[in-house]
Amino acid sequence: MSTADTRRTAVRAPSGSLNFGELLERSATIATSLGNRDIGPGDLVAVKMPRDLDLLPTLLGVLRSGAAYLPIDIADPPRRTEAVVADAGAALVIVEDSVPDAAAVTPAELLAAPAAAPAPVVTADDLAYVIYTSGSTGAPKGVEVPHRCAAALFAAMDDHVAAQPGDVWLSLTSPAFDISVFEFFWTLGKGMTVELADTSGGALFSTALASDDHDITHVQATPTLLGGLLLDPATRRGLSRVRHVTSTGEALPSELGRELRALLPDAFINAYGPTETTIWSTVEHIGESVPDPMVIGRELAGQTVHLLDDMGQPVPPGSTGELVIAGCGVTNGYRGRPDLTTDRFFPDPSGPDGSVMYRTGDLGYHLDDGRLVCVGRADRQVKVRGHRIELDEVEAVLGELPGVEAAGVVARSAPTTTLAAFVVIADADAAPDAIRAQLAERLPAPAVPARIEIVAELPRSTSGKLDRRQLEDRLGDERSRDGAV
Ligand code: AMP
Repeated sequence: MSTADTRRTAVRAPSGSLNFGELLERSATIATSLGNRDIGPGDLVAVKMPRDLDLLPTLLGVLRSGAAYLPIDIADPPRRTEAVVADAGAALVIVEDSVPDAAAVTPAELLAAPAAAPAPVVTADDLAYVIYTSGSTGAPKGVEVPHRCAAALFAAMDDHVAAQPGDVWLSLTSPAFDISVFEFFWTLGKGMTVELADTSGGALFSTALASDDHDITHVQATPTLLGGLLLDPATRRGLSRVRHVTSTGEALPSELGRELRALLPDAFINAYGPTETTIWSTVEHIGESVPDPMVIGRELAGQTVHLLDDMGQPVPPGSTGELVIAGCGVTNGYRGRPDLTTDRFFPDPSGPDGSVMYRTGDLGYHLDDGRLVCVGRADRQVKVRGHRIELDEVEAVLGELPGVEAAGVVARSAPTTTLAAFVVIADADAAPDAIRAQLAERLPAPAVPARIEIVAELPRSTSGKLDRRQLEDRLGDERSRDGAV
């Protein structure tokens, strides 16, 4: 790196900024400190930090130590964080504020002049990060992503996102979502500035985009958040001045796509992919004629999406099948859970020896020109404000609460996805608010149902199975009666 390069701004954060030289120096110090604590390749370091100045030096420091990082959303309840850290077997937890815990350390402690440690030898097969997602069995599961998968995705995205040194990427994403990996590291690799939006206090985005002379060139967000940006005249104006927008994380409604397309001067993409196949697997460049139904486009270089039926056979052209993804993005599966891994990751008969493909649970079909349309899910996974939630996990956690005899959880998708829980309780005095408070201690906020209703019994089929269709019908009935649930 030349002196001019090291002086360029790498990170702008709520409490200050760092140039590339400072970022590299701080991350090297953190890596050395971790090395001195015997942390290196094969280890996992949990990072629970706000999106502020220390975050990127810390994540980069963990990677430079040879260890992988486990990002934890600071908004998650402590109980869930503890469960995830224990399940993952993290060697260390890095937290912003000092805590009286031998297994936790702050960035300030790591930055305090360490003695030199030998440089680690990191291979492409070493893990880069582990990200926990909602698990249908009742507990979150950690997806293990090796460096080779992230590197392949970064290279493939060079064909889809144009960037140059000095461009500014507005980072809105929690480090606990895998799309943050792209917005933190692909960007820095291009010499871009990462502007960490101040999302403290519940703000959805920093005031940066609302300012008339902002210099932000790239924005990536869920459709829900992009829709929010359109509502405010100032951020709407600000968005119209960026060069590139990525919509990702959940289905982009065609109507919103049209509104965005009319506003945006230049590149606008819809990127699709599960955490299990490393951030994204397909991309659609949305041109002047916005597809309706929306398409998720074509595979990224090195990846293949098969459309398979229940028997694992390709569906006829134009028919709907499950998206099964093969190629360089397929990760190692779920940490410490070979049972869950073999359930979703299968040998790939057309790939090299030992290669596997991933069954996404998403359903879709090919257009005549080969582009893909994703029509929804084959299971009970939903997205609430971009958060991936297995309704079965919410049901299982509800079922474990004291006094809860049975529970059914369903989702309502319009106008936005919200959850409703129907609960049978032993203690007639237990109020929905008390149940909500207990759920909030155990689940991320978006997984806590907006509506909790105590019922005498749950509808069951003749075989005694919970009849969720009837619960969904109740939501539908009320919607037609009230206009909204
Ligand atoms: P996550 O692992 O949290 O990234 O969630 C992945 C899931 O989100 C996918 O399996 C899809 O169900 C959904 N998803 C992500 N991006 C898109 C998109 N562009 N269009 C439709 N669904 C999407």
